[in-house]
Amino acid sequence: MSEVRLRFAPSPTGYLHVGGARTALFNWLLARKQHGKFILRIEDTDVARSTQESVDAILEGMTWLGLDWDEGPFYQSDNFPIYREYVEKLLASGKAYKCYCSAEELEAKREAALKAGGKPKYDGTCRDLPDQPGKPYVVRFRTPHDGTSAWVDLIKGTISFENKELDDLIIQRSDGTPTYNFVVVIDDAVMGITTVIRGDDHVNNTPRQILLYEALEFPVPHFAHVPMILGADKTRLSKRHGATSVMAYRDMGYLPEAMVNYLVRLGWSYGDEEIFTLSDLVEKFSIENVGRSAGVFNPDKLLWLNAHYIKTGDPERLAQLVTPFLKQRQVDPATGPSLVEVVKTLQERARTMLELADGAIFYYNSDFDYDAKGAAKHFTAEAPELLGALVAKLEALPALTVEAIEQLFKEICEEKGIKLGQIGPAVRIALSGVTASPGIYEMIHVLGVEETKKRIERAVATIKP
Ligand code: GLU
Repeated sequence: MSEVRLRFAPSPTGYLHVGGARTALFNWLLARKQHGKFILRIEDTDVARSTQESVDAILEGMTWLGLDWDEGPFYQSDNFPIYREYVEKLLASGKAYKCYCSAEELEAKREAALKAGGKPKYDGTCRDLPDQPGKPYVVRFRTPHDGTSAWVDLIKGTISFENKELDDLIIQRSDGTPTYNFVVVIDDAVMGITTVIRGDDHVNNTPRQILLYEALEFPVPHFAHVPMILGADKTRLSKRHGATSVMAYRDMGYLPEAMVNYLVRLGWSYGDEEIFTLSDLVEKFSIENVGRSAGVFNPDKLLWLNAHYIKTGDPERLAQLVTPFLKQRQVDPATGPSLVEVVKTLQERARTMLELADGAIFYYNSDFDYDAKGAAKHFTAEAPELLGALVAKLEALPALTVEAIEQLFKEICEEKGIKLGQIGPAVRIALSGVTASPGIYEMIHVLGVEETKKRIERAVATIKP
């Protein structure tokens, strides 16, 4: 079997949005699964709307998601001479022709057709005209009047269009620049793309492209049109529904593996499994299992997956990833306990890296205020004595392990005839300022005896005898 070659072909007119990222992911997965090639092509023929900033944002998004490419990025703007060659070829063979109709003429024809209740389709005036040197022209493809253009879509099944419904497509504008449907065909053919996976907003373009492949005697690739992503109200996902940029999710504290896992499940399933790493996916993904109906973007599910990946994540990596968020909070992890140890106490409960960062602040900034309600309830008249006993026992410990700390609390409870609930919450507030925090043994373990003592003394100083 010859090599499979897939591509992602974004137009650099904005950031990488979740729909584009999912298309890229499906292409990448199929390429990796079939040991083929994944090619990145930047479709920047619309010079006015394409920006380098968007190119950078798209590359950044792909890199963040872990979608590496084997060839490219190629830029369509580098290929203008090649497109020109193929336009000439079609002109020479009579499969394309120069159209001299002015914009005003076309508009008048359009209106007349609409008035007559017909479809506003080019009427073919210039199909058989001789060359008219010096007159501005566009180049149109001579679309056959009969027959059908059909393909077996790998997601949607057989799709067929009557050729007579299709217009004589403009392939080159009057300024000499080629149009989207034309350059896509040239590039996909020249790059040897075997399967085109793209959004189903392109379904209407596909019959036109198939006719171009045939006219140029290129092999026609397979097509798979991915249903779009909807918001909760079943309209097309847009900014109204929340963030749609992939990188905005990074900035909101999402992990790339959660995003990948979420995006792939949005339209693809594998039994009732929910959790997939990239390498699971490379093994299990198939385009045939992508559903035909649109996926509804569910932020709660994404959050649930993110919490899963934080909980099970490597603390060293999470520590690295949380560092910029700590910096944003003016927290310097070098000034306190090991960030890796801190992360271990927080990853069980944090659903985003922002929550992880917020949860870590108290380890490094000890001049926090105490939760007023909690302090009023738990900083009791008896607390100083109990907290004092705790410090004394901590200082006498030969080794500060979580087990030894737990044991020590048991001893205090026995010796003082109290329940853990009579000392635990006071310790929690003294160490963290709040009533919901990591486990108290774990906190003491991470803070160390000296810092624990300092914090307890600070708390005791606020308690009126
Ligand atoms: N550049 C097109 C887009 O961003 C994609 C074209 C294609 O995949 O064929 O929608």
